[in-house]
Amino acid sequence: MRAEFDGVTALRDVSLSIDEGEFFTLVGPSGCGKTTMLRSIAGLTDEAEGRVAIDGRDVTSAPPEARNVGMVFQNYALFPHMSVHENVAYGLRFHDLDGRTDDERVAELLDLVDLAGVADRSPEQLSGGQQQRIALARALAPEPDVLLLDEPLSALDARLRKRLRVQIKTIQQELDITTVYVTHDQAEALALSDRVAVMQDGRVEQVAAPESVYRNPASRFVAEFVGDNNLFDGTVTDDGAGVAVDGAALPLPAGSDRRPSESVTLAVRPEVIEIDDGAASADTTLAATVETVEFLGDAYRVHCRWRGRRIECKSTASAPPAGEVTLGFDADDAQVL
Ligand code: ATP
Repeated sequence: MRAEFDGVTALRDVSLSIDEGEFFTLVGPSGCGKTTMLRSIAGLTDEAEGRVAIDGRDVTSAPPEARNVGMVFQNYALFPHMSVHENVAYGLRFHDLDGRTDDERVAELLDLVDLAGVADRSPEQLSGGQQQRIALARALAPEPDVLLLDEPLSALDARLRKRLRVQIKTIQQELDITTVYVTHDQAEALALSDRVAVMQDGRVEQVAAPESVYRNPASRFVAEFVGDNNLFDGTVTDDGAGVAVDGAALPLPAGSDRRPSESVTLAVRPEVIEIDDGAASADTTLAATVETVEFLGDAYRVHCRWRGRRIECKSTASAPPAGEVTLGFDADDAQVL
């Protein structure tokens, strides 16, 4: 898929294949092309060039209503002058229900989103989270082959966002519906998805399961965008076994197979770095100074300085570390980019 708007390239040869029943997420910073990709699948973007097939059926020239996709947007998009019941029933206007009445189907959907009690209310009498669940019910009403969700939670507060994302995932699994989800929130992407496509500047940087994207980022961009990371830029030492960073040699993971003098980045997640006691047995140790400590509830985030550079680690000790500390990690817990 390719897309360009007045000289701005939104998608550069993006090709994706999404499995049936999969929860697939497009994640990336603002402007990277996620929405354009989603709208291309729905048939809502004239500027997109390429081919879209759903369930083996080429829908490239089909209008949106003939693609059998359901879509939920960020801003609810419910009709304010219609009741909740009428909003959900609106989703059925082109759909033949195979013997069931519209009322039965609406009741089924309101049950599904756990809002059976609000059928007669108007959208303005509902909270943001409830409105979004109604929007989801409306999108699901015609039994679409694919559910497309564009930042459905971003207008909600953090607590509600977390609660609703679990509900979305539960409903998706219950219906086993192929779902394409767009978000700029990497934590949301990791929490919800079977696979994630990390996008930047109109390109897909990596497509993989959340665990792989987190543990084996394919690029520096992915390593920085997904989760927290400490990135050490340096050059491979003469013996090929380490990377020279600020006058120290940090060992490379086994089997890194890098040439001497090659520029590499060593990526080390905060949670693999041990402080003091735990650091003693590590194969890489760094003498650092604690600068700031944040309490996270279940752990402390510890911001340290080592040779002028900031290093972030996580401590689950009962008291936060302070002053001069030894940081340690095993080379095999780091990734080379
Ligand atoms: P966001 O999270 O901010 O919505 P996004 O990753 O969904 O970002 P897109 O909305 O797909 O990104 O936009 C990709 C690029 O294409 C951006 O540079 C955007 O400004 C541009 N773009 C998207 N739609 C249009 C349009 N209708 N007209 C002009 N430019 C557009």
